[in-house]
Amino acid sequence: MPRPLRVRFAPSPTGLLHIGSAHTALFNYLFARKEQGKFLLRIEDTDIKRSRQEWVGAIFDVLNWLGIDWDEEVVYQSQRIDRYQERAQELLDIGKAYRCYYLPEELEERKQAALKKGKSWRNDRRYAKISETERKTLEAEGRQPVVRLMIPAGKTVLQDRILGEIEVDNSTIDDFVIVRSNGSPLYHLAVVVDDIDMEISHVIRGLDHVTNTFKHVQLFHAFGYDLPEFGHLPNILGQDKKKLSKRHGAVSVSEYRDAGYLTDAVVNFLSLLGWQTGDDQEFFTREELRRRFSLDQVHKRDTVFDLQKFEWLNGQHIMALSEEELLPLVSPFLVQAGLMAEEAIVDQRAYILAVIGLLKERCRTLVEFAIRGKFFFVTEMDYNPKAVRKHWAKEPEAANQRLRWLCDGFNALDSFNTEALEGVLRQLAEEHGLKAAQFIHPCRVALTGEMAGPSLFHLIAVLGKDVVIERLEQALQIFPEVIKSAVDEGQNP
Ligand code: GLU
Repeated sequence: MPRPLRVRFAPSPTGLLHIGSAHTALFNYLFARKEQGKFLLRIEDTDIKRSRQEWVGAIFDVLNWLGIDWDEEVVYQSQRIDRYQERAQELLDIGKAYRCYYLPEELEERKQAALKKGKSWRNDRRYAKISETERKTLEAEGRQPVVRLMIPAGKTVLQDRILGEIEVDNSTIDDFVIVRSNGSPLYHLAVVVDDIDMEISHVIRGLDHVTNTFKHVQLFHAFGYDLPEFGHLPNILGQDKKKLSKRHGAVSVSEYRDAGYLTDAVVNFLSLLGWQTGDDQEFFTREELRRRFSLDQVHKRDTVFDLQKFEWLNGQHIMALSEEELLPLVSPFLVQAGLMAEEAIVDQRAYILAVIGLLKERCRTLVEFAIRGKFFFVTEMDYNPKAVRKHWAKEPEAANQRLRWLCDGFNALDSFNTEALEGVLRQLAEEHGLKAAQFIHPCRVALTGEMAGPSLFHLIAVLGKDVVIERLEQALQIFPEVIKSAVDEGQNP
């Protein structure tokens, strides 16, 4: 009878949740949800020097943000030390583990001596079978033993769900320590005791754990427990084909959240790292992922973290949302950029929705709404000197005149809609024998400070008559000054 499907995500709370860890969490989660199994969470916090409660909170935070919910109570390894010691004692009792009294320096000496002779050192089990009297003498000398697992000769072989059959010669494993001389259990013991107690059916984790897995298999054997199935997820590399690290930019999920990535885009992007979808589809909703994800389509080749693709995918997810759906996601970024007060969001709802509507096809992150949309919210204009040089400074008098005509034409309008606005501009162009673009560009600079952006008539309609007239008047007033400083800047960049 196969075991009921139970997988776990077992992060160590030693820092912000890394992209690689989130990837492992997600693959376990999708696998469990697709197969109607259980997805459990275990906090591996036995390393008291490096583990911190705040990092545990950060893990919960990010998992919640990603929409990765877990079943049952969270297991904390720090609360299970007695259990690990008890299980180590069982291994001692049945002769699968032994107390080793070598001092670290003695072991080092032996290793060096073996190396000199061109041999590798394996524990000679000198203390595996000693008499009670000898034990007492050693302890009276002040020696505190570690507990080592007895690794039999032969090979450790396993069928990995992703890698296929993998094996290692047991001579490379050595009798590793499972309990330190101060009585504290080691990571390998804790993991296996927990996986047994939590009745884990599939251990799915990163490829960097594969050498640990061989050790764990030996522990499962020692406990006489049928192996869970193992699956090692591919390495995630940076564009330079080196293991993804800080050198490649942001590596924690929360940094992407703070940079304005959407949960669904992060989940979508992570799911494509190593999963062969079977066709060209790259955009997946969460529902589709839950339905379509299959561990059997996960390949073993290294996978590359492509930031450009991530941004593109985020843009796709932004575009797929309605203005109403984007409003609560975008607003915090406007507040954070100092463009509006949090209390103003409700009153300004219609205005923000219109702004989002104009920008959403252009923004690849939520932060970009605050950058590209800044001019919708400021009272003090910032004119990009390049735009000023290009569209005002080349023919200053003519540009100034056109802004005057536009200002008067717009001012005379009763209804500030895109058709009426466009009508005014085109008519002015015709009247004066000019091209529409000769009005559009200087006007855009006056209203947005930039040379490119969303459709001019739409943004004028959204800004509204008061603001538009005020900005045009202001531009006309400070025109020479702005031109001078932009030209100076161009000469002394
Ligand atoms: N705590 C380990 C880590 O954060 C994971 C161990 C496991 O999945 O077995 O890398």
